[in-house]
Amino acid sequence: QIRHGLGNRLHFFTAGMDTRARRWIEVESELRHALARGELQLYYQPIVCVRDGRVRTVEALLRWNSPALGWVSPAEFIPVAEESELIVAIGDWALETACRQVRHWQDTGLPAVRVAVNVSAHQLAGGRLPERVREVLERTGIDPGQLELELTESAMMSDSEHGARQVEAISRMGVSVALDDFGTGYSSLAYLSRFALTKLKIDRSFVDGLSRDPKSSIIVDATLGLARGLGLRVVAEGVETEEQRALLAAAGCDALQGYLFSPPVAPAALGALIDRFAPAERYAKPRVVAIG
Ligand code: C2E
Ligand code: MG
Ligand code: MG
Ligand code: MG
Repeated sequence: QIRHGLGNRLHFFTAGMDTRARRWIEVESELRHALARGELQLYYQPIVCVRDGRVRTVEALLRWNSPALGWVSPAEFIPVAEESELIVAIGDWALETACRQVRHWQDTGLPAVRVAVNVSAHQLAGGRLPERVREVLERTGIDPGQLELELTESAMMSDSEHGARQVEAISRMGVSVALDDFGTGYSSLAYLSRFALTKLKIDRSFVDGLSRDPKSSIIVDATLGLARGLGLRVVAEGVETEEQRALLAAAGCDALQGYLFSPPVAPAALGALIDRFAPAERYAKPRVVAIG
């Protein structure tokens, strides 16, 4: 039996312990120090406008290269971060880092982009999110229109009155709010009117089913109808094939995101990506390059 200390808690690894439970504890124990040790990074994935093919928004996505565990996928460590509430500190860091990055791109002559930052239910429940957003906007000096927050339905579920007030306050600052992974949560349509949303992101499970499962395209069409009626823009995520791109564009999606266009990339690679999607726009403007 191995005794393993985690902060002020003790965990016992026994021979019979499920390997999944062991892995969870290992991930949690490493994640506790990941932020302080500078192991977390943000990558950025372009969201492409259907109308003109330009990239106006990029989504910030966490990447973790742990010296002990190697690359760990967000699909694995985000749930651990949520359960341990490490997500509050990590989410705070992500918000600040993404806004600083946008400021840096702008200072080095890239066309202005908006960054979409994922926000967890815990950050919304904490009640300090509007204040944090205001502080970060002030510190980085970016325009509120250059920031978007992505919330999931689960974030809206827990204490939705309180959550709705936070979102309202954030949206009044001029920051846009998107509902992420639409269709995978409880999908109570009440959230769509109760929350001050600007955008819906159709989950990639529906995009994935488009060519095979007629039900997926019915859901996509219905979502677009609903969004249009409510004045919301629609982004489809997980677009991997030309066929999906054509179907989603014809159905009326405003913007598309997925490996077909680009995977999430390191910040230094974004300039080249923007060039690829809108060369004219970048070079039409005087280019200011930071010196020193
Ligand atoms: P999400 O917010 O729905 O982000 C989209 C996910 O789909 C990303 O996975 C992205 O890399 C992946 N993706 C994009 N295009 C394609 C495609 O064409 N095909 C496929 N199969 N996948 C595609 P990733 O980066 O692994 O992140 C997973 C989830 O982790 C995110 O889902 C989000 O819920 C969460 N996450 C990531 N960063 C943060 C963060 O800073 N804060 C919080 N709270 N959650 C985060
Ligand atoms: Mg997202
Ligand atoms: Mg999503
Ligand atoms: Mg998703």
